[in-house]
Amino acid sequence: MSQGDMPYKRLAQFYEKIEQTTSRIAMTDYLVALFKETPVEVLDKVIYLTQGKLRPDYEGVELGVAEKLTLRAIARATGFSLKKVEELYKKLGDPGLTAQELLAKAPKGGLAAFLGAEAKNPLTVKRVYDSLMKIAKAQGAGSQDVKINTLVALLRDAEPLEAKYLVRTVTGRLRLGVADMTILDALAIAFTGKKSTRPILEKAYTKHPDLGYIAVLLATEGLDKLKEIKIQVGVPILPMLAERLNDPKEILEKLGGRCLAEYKYDGERVQAHRKGDEVQLFSRRLENITHHYPDVVEYIKRLKSPEFIVEGEVVAIDPNTGDMLPFQELMHRRRKYDVEKAMEEYPTRIYLFDIVYREGKELIDLPLPERKKHLEEIVVESDEVKLATGKIVDNPHDLMLFFEQAISEGCEGLMCKSIGPDSIYQMGARGWLWIKFKRDYRMEMTDTVDLVVVGAFYGRGKRAGTYGALLMAAYSPEEDVFKTVCKVGSGFTDEDLAKLPEILAPYKIDHKHPRVISKIEADVWFVPAIVLEIIGAEITLSPLHTCCLNKIEEGAGLAIRFPRFTGRYRFDKKPEQATTEQELIEMYKSQKKTVYR
Ligand code: ATP
Repeated sequence: MSQGDMPYKRLAQFYEKIEQTTSRIAMTDYLVALFKETPVEVLDKVIYLTQGKLRPDYEGVELGVAEKLTLRAIARATGFSLKKVEELYKKLGDPGLTAQELLAKAPKGGLAAFLGAEAKNPLTVKRVYDSLMKIAKAQGAGSQDVKINTLVALLRDAEPLEAKYLVRTVTGRLRLGVADMTILDALAIAFTGKKSTRPILEKAYTKHPDLGYIAVLLATEGLDKLKEIKIQVGVPILPMLAERLNDPKEILEKLGGRCLAEYKYDGERVQAHRKGDEVQLFSRRLENITHHYPDVVEYIKRLKSPEFIVEGEVVAIDPNTGDMLPFQELMHRRRKYDVEKAMEEYPTRIYLFDIVYREGKELIDLPLPERKKHLEEIVVESDEVKLATGKIVDNPHDLMLFFEQAISEGCEGLMCKSIGPDSIYQMGARGWLWIKFKRDYRMEMTDTVDLVVVGAFYGRGKRAGTYGALLMAAYSPEEDVFKTVCKVGSGFTDEDLAKLPEILAPYKIDHKHPRVISKIEADVWFVPAIVLEIIGAEITLSPLHTCCLNKIEEGAGLAIRFPRFTGRYRFDKKPEQATTEQELIEMYKSQKKTVYR
């Protein structure tokens, strides 16, 4: 093994420990120990691998070798017949366990070594990483052969435990549930000796959300260097988020009596980066979505500046009327295989609402009115490109009227934004500088929530064989855990019910995930991953659920009464972007006001 490398076996041993633990603290401790013993040369690789990736999401390097191909590779590496491999896979349901079991049974080093053809060459992190990169990058004719041969070579040198994690990684199924925030915690402890430096790491991360990059910079140059990180075209920043209120008077009070009320479009948020002819689009969760919107790329090139980062909402447009269509229509387009055809059927328009960088200068610390001036300078409005419709308001009556107007034009409501001297762009933070004002359903819950599936209950009667209900949780950013708020069993169509076990299968684990806090025992547990949009009749106090436990009343948490799935799978959200505990507290409080008003 060359200097600055590390045996892959060590990593596999850590994965095994992390996978088995049910404690969030223990999980962080293992990560701290792992980072401390990792040579800095491979620290970034270890971090990406631990999250089942090769690079940060926004670079779009996808690993995910088809299961069929993987099973063939296992057969070739172990010398067992493909039939035998497939049989075991059917029984175990996990290609990683299949590889582990067969490797343990196979003559050491597989058939080839048994025949004396090859000597064993232990796996190292560098070798595994480089091979996986080769697999991910292989394209076009002959790529299947490259993939399988590379994987066979690794498996021939793997020990059973290594094979388990290697195969899970290569098939995109290494799901240890280690979130970015957990890694930041561990990095702070490992390299600065204390967790209190976390905010510095987090700030750097909001500007440059590449954990490998941050880790290496921290380990080699220290905390001060992290503070100097600058916004870079091509690297998405964490988007600014809004709080919510549904009383115009309160909104204005929060914003100092005056605000910019802007239409809240019902589309997909896009962060557009341009440098010359190069345009890249990033989603709300920082995935590179450039290839979904070739039309939007063209719109962005029409702006009058060679280098910038702007934000806007892409909305689907009815080609016959030019009216805005709801979010679901845009998602139809996303699912279409043929982008060209989809562009014709579902044309789009972008409504730009912010700018954070222009021609070498960061604009995030400028107040909103000044950022808007920059935006207006570079936007040439057309049918496809528009500035978000907005208006300065200073009284509840006007705010209410403008809200009704927005709804009548197909928007979800308003985004009310501070225009004060401190109205900076708060990267990655949910704050009171932006307040969303959505339709108020009076006695009903005022808004939908996005909750994470953490468990499930087996169905009975008509639902036998599928899940009868799902255990849903909200996110607590302070503790980096998921706390339950409801069991949802209604709102699912037959199609949803058939599809759910399949969607959830890859996340199934045999114990409660360490980042889930629940008093309820589910029949099945999942790694927090899938986010669903839920609406209910009301938010109530409940002793059964752990969300907001003891925060409003001793011994009670918050629960959603009569929860119902709205039909919207929020695949565009990470579990950490689900509704937070704090948001539920706000909703609970504002709901009380509405009810008693
Ligand atoms: P969040 O993004 O706050 O976590 P969410 O994805 O459920 O929650 P909403 O609660 O509907 O979205 O509201 C926030 C989103 O509204 C923004 O992320 C953005 O996509 C969208 N949006 C629409 N119009 C605007 C606007 N004028 N200014 C800012 N955001 C807007």
